[in-house]
Amino acid sequence: MTNDPLLSLRKVSKIFGNGHYGLKDIDLDIAAGEFVSLLGPSGCGKTTTLRVVAGFEAASAGQILLGGAEIGHLPPNRRPVNTVFQDYAVFPHMDVAENVAFGLSVRGTPRAEIRRKVGEALDLVGLADKAKRPVSALSGGQRQRVALARAIVCEPQLLLLDEPLSALDASLREQMQIELKNLQSRLGTTFVMVTHDQTEALSISDRIAVMQGGVIEQIASPAELYDRPATRFVAGFIGTMNLLPGKVSADGRLEVPGSSLPMPAEAHGFGAGSAVVLGLRPEDLEISTASAGIPIRVENVVFHGRSLRVIGRIASGEEMILDVPRSAAAELPAEGASAVLRLRTGAVPVVLPA
Ligand code: ATP
Repeated sequence: MTNDPLLSLRKVSKIFGNGHYGLKDIDLDIAAGEFVSLLGPSGCGKTTTLRVVAGFEAASAGQILLGGAEIGHLPPNRRPVNTVFQDYAVFPHMDVAENVAFGLSVRGTPRAEIRRKVGEALDLVGLADKAKRPVSALSGGQRQRVALARAIVCEPQLLLLDEPLSALDASLREQMQIELKNLQSRLGTTFVMVTHDQTEALSISDRIAVMQGGVIEQIASPAELYDRPATRFVAGFIGTMNLLPGKVSADGRLEVPGSSLPMPAEAHGFGAGSAVVLGLRPEDLEISTASAGIPIRVENVVFHGRSLRVIGRIASGEEMILDVPRSAAAELPAEGASAVLRLRTGAVPVVLPA
């Protein structure tokens, strides 16, 4: 990052009363205007990170800086940060405009300014015509937009979103993902969102922090996470990745069962004899009955819309998954047949320590 970050976590840890480490030495820099998602399996520390930044939870160690100033000692309402929760938390007895106005009224904002800001916020979320509707008469997606309008109307420097779309059904959720992304680009506000849905994170984030066991395994753009996962966990967590055991030969090539591949230029630091794992996407592999390649036994061929997914097993027991265009269906070995796997021309494996 070239500019100074808006939000910085410096060696932040959270140890709960029972001695459990929720976060371990988290370092995280987020630039102004970025949309960053915290992604990971249940219990990895996503929500704890958000709560520590919002001030609902005190960090046990480390610093939280916003615009270069330490905010770790401030109560939640003194932090220039707002949070949107999973359950929307709208006030059912108020109408849409009253819900959105709430935060401004509490701060004693003059009436005319409240009216203008609420109007602008409702415009932004596409609810201008619903201002006087009781919230109870709105759909789930509309309520979520009210919650968003309420959070952005106070113009926080940073908006934290905790699984904001998880209560919505699949099609509405997909639509709201795009709306959320558009809203964020229009506002230019920094968004940090917790999600356990990788498709959601990959489709709307500028960068994603992949967490596991209270640490950030990797923070990178969606494309970089997909193309160059830094750890086995990230490789296995983002999309489908085949993990093929291999070894570095004396002349620096990658030896895999029945084949050898050149070491990719970007993989370095693996000396001769090192045990490695090669990460290969299903679209990086092809299958044939020719003699050269990694021997595989085809177990299943599954219809996948535009492609066929072939699931097979290599001699060392690892399952391998590859996607084949439907146009190539006629040349596919049958289920139960022996064949060989090869890397498609131009495909580069990710090389990770074993
Ligand atoms: P989920 O997706 O299930 O919400 P998460 O990644 O958001 O998971 P956190 O809620 O941040 O996970 O929790 C991280 C870890 O800290 C978990 O193991 C959780 O059980 C533990 N934890 C969270 N809050 C407390 C608490 N108040 N006391 C003790 N342990 C806690």
